[in-house]
Amino acid sequence: MKTNLDKYWILDGHNDSILAIPRQKRSFAERSETGHLDGPRMHEGNVKAGLFAVFPGFTKKMLAKGTRKWFEIINAKENGLMHIKNIDDFEKSRDSGKIGAVLHFEGVGGIDRNLTRLHEYRKMGLRTLGLTWSNRNKFATGVSFLGKEKNRGLTDTGVELLNIAQSLGITVDVSHLNVPSFWGVIEHTHKPVMASHSNASAVCAHKRNLTDDQIKAIYGKHGTIGINMGKIFLNPLYPGKADLEMGFDAIKQHIDHIVSVADINTVAMGSDFDGIKTPTCMKDCTQYPKLFDFLLENGYSEQDLLKISHENLLRVFKQTWV
Ligand SMILES: [Zn+2]
Repeated sequence: MKTNLDKYWILDGHNDSILAIPRQKRSFAERSETGHLDGPRMHEGNVKAGLFAVFPGFTKKMLAKGTRKWFEIINAKENGLMHIKNIDDFEKSRDSGKIGAVLHFEGVGGIDRNLTRLHEYRKMGLRTLGLTWSNRNKFATGVSFLGKEKNRGLTDTGVELLNIAQSLGITVDVSHLNVPSFWGVIEHTHKPVMASHSNASAVCAHKRNLTDDQIKAIYGKHGTIGINMGKIFLNPLYPGKADLEMGFDAIKQHIDHIVSVADINTVAMGSDFDGIKTPTCMKDCTQYPKLFDFLLENGYSEQDLLKISHENLLRVFKQTWV
């Protein structure tokens, strides 16, 4: 292995482990062959921090239940996790040999119109949010909503939520939004945004991926796009050959495309681990060093790897967390 494990530590922009681990009846503290993430495998793969999503958050009850589960897993001593509340915590958690966990909401339908609960969750340590998952709620419309108002964008309440979230130092995530909602967020944000787990639609035409115009808009905001390791979002033959076996080159194609349309400062990692099916080459998070070796051997510099492993996403957090 050529990649310097200490140097290229990974800040992964999205995982669904808080939902998956209890369902799969495994423990974060123990190495498993099920799913993609647990403490031992994260250390092995040099993933030192990540955005652990609370999902689903459609209703007040669901959001509260998911958040309770989040704190239960993050605070369990044996799991060796640390709740990341500010920028300095990234270094503190690495220094103490822990894995940093950022509280992320993947959809905030359970937040009230008055946004009282947004303030409450911020006090509890919420640092990043997506307005909606692929569904529709009072703030925005997701990419998979096919009802009557499928072309509805951001609502007035959504704009209000964006403004308050930004003023509270919460990073806004555009993954899962439909096209009008995406442009609404671009119009109404004055800080960098992230697409925490989305790829390039020019390479894989899945509607969850980003068009070149969307990639350029994120670049224009000095934001980041986290590469999603889901087979369905990587597949260059989509919608055909769902069972296509892919190597690291398929992941590299998405990185290459984002670099060509935007730049290397726009690329981050956003695996979606424990929420998707991966190609065998990325069977779990232990494979990251191999991916980075591949990128080093195929045209990316050490400086580039530093940026995509953690520096770019950290830059977005530095500019959005107050
Ligand atoms: Zn997702």
